[in-house]
Amino acid sequence: MKIRDLRWTSAFIPIEAPLRYAFGAHPGFSRLVIEVDTDEGLTGLGECYSGASREGQLEEMRSLLIGEDPFQLERIRWKLSSPSAQKLFGNVLGYAGVEFACLDLQGKAIGRPVCDLLGGRVRDEIPFAGYAFYRYANDRGEGEIGDAKQMVAYARELIGRYGFGTLKFKNGVMHPDEEVETFIALRKAFPGLKLRLDPNAAWSVTTAVRMARRLADYDVEYYEDPVWGMRALERVNAKAPWITLASNMSIFAFEDLAPAARMNVLDVVLLDPHWYGGISRARIAAGVCESLGLDVGLHSGAEFGVSQAAALHLLASISNLSAAADSHYHHLTDDILVGGKLEYTANGSMAVPQGPGLGVQLDHDKLAQYHELALKQEMGSWIEDPKRPGVVTIQPKW
Ligand code: MG
Repeated sequence: MKIRDLRWTSAFIPIEAPLRYAFGAHPGFSRLVIEVDTDEGLTGLGECYSGASREGQLEEMRSLLIGEDPFQLERIRWKLSSPSAQKLFGNVLGYAGVEFACLDLQGKAIGRPVCDLLGGRVRDEIPFAGYAFYRYANDRGEGEIGDAKQMVAYARELIGRYGFGTLKFKNGVMHPDEEVETFIALRKAFPGLKLRLDPNAAWSVTTAVRMARRLADYDVEYYEDPVWGMRALERVNAKAPWITLASNMSIFAFEDLAPAARMNVLDVVLLDPHWYGGISRARIAAGVCESLGLDVGLHSGAEFGVSQAAALHLLASISNLSAAADSHYHHLTDDILVGGKLEYTANGSMAVPQGPGLGVQLDHDKLAQYHELALKQEMGSWIEDPKRPGVVTIQPKW
C-alpha cells in the first residue's frame, strides 16, 4: 500500500458559549482535518491544531509522504519529523496529525482498531473530566459564568448531564483569591467529586504557594501548571509539598520527562498525542513515565472527533492512566463525524470505538459547512479576552 496524497481542511465549530482562559478567549474551536489517500482506495483520517504554520508543515510533508507505505511509520517519522527536526523546526503538531492518519490506514487495512496496533485495550471506556471555564454569554445571551454561584450551577448541570466524577476548573482569568474562593465553593457543593484546577501558569511562585496554603484542606486532585517552567514548579513543590502537581505546559516532550522526574518537579504528566508526535509516541511516553514513577493523565487542546478518537485509542492502551482525561469535547455544538458527536456514557466516560482504524468516519457535508465558518474567522479559535485586552503573555499576571 502506497500513500498517494495528503490533504487537509480547516474547520471551525461553534461552542455552547465563549470560554475564557489565561491568554484570551475561545469563540469556538478551530482545527485542521487531515486525509491521507492510498493507492488501494483507503483514506486515513488525522487532525491537528489549526493555523497557517501547521498548514505550512503539512505542505512541506506532503511530497515526502507520497509514495510511502503507511505501515512503515518509524521510517516516515524520521523522514518527516525526526526528534532534531521537531526541535529545530517545530513541526511535531502537523506530523502528529499525519501519524493518526497512518495508524487509521493500518487499522483499516487489516480490519482492526488502532488500539490493537498499540498492544491492545486494557479498558473499554475512558473516564473524562468535566471542563468548567469562566464564560461569556453566547449570541442568545445564555451561558455566562462569571462568579462562584454561576460556576457551581454550571458544575451541577455538567454532572447531571454527563455524570462526570471529576471536574477541572480553569483558572488564570479572575484574581487568584476569587478563583480559590470559587474552588472552595465547588468543593463544598460536591464533597465526593475529584476537583482539579489549572491557572495556565498565570501565577507567580509566591502566589501559587499562597494559594496552595489556602487550598490545603480542600482535597485538590491536582494543581496543574500554577507557574511556568521546571525551576518554578520545583520551587512550588518544595514550598508546598502536600499538593499534587501536574503539567502539560512546562513538561510536554520526551526530553522533559527525565529532568522533571529528577528535579521532583511534578506528579502527573499530562500526555497529548499531538505534542508527543502521535498516538504511538504518546503511548511510549506513558511507558517512560511508568519507569520514572510519574503518573499519567491527558491534556486537551480543543479537539474535534478525529483527535478525540485518537485519544480514546491511546488511553485504551495505557495501563498506567491514573486520572480522568481532560477534554473540551462537551463544549462543542456539533462535530464533523458521520452520526454527529461521539457520545458520553452515563458516568462521564466514552467508549473506545470498535471499528477498524480510528473507528470514525468523516461527514464531508459537515466538514464543508464548518470549513466555510473557518474562512470567516480572522484569528482561528483564539481571540483577545474583551475584558482583559492585551493579555497574551505567559508571564505571571499575579
Ligand atoms: Mg493545562
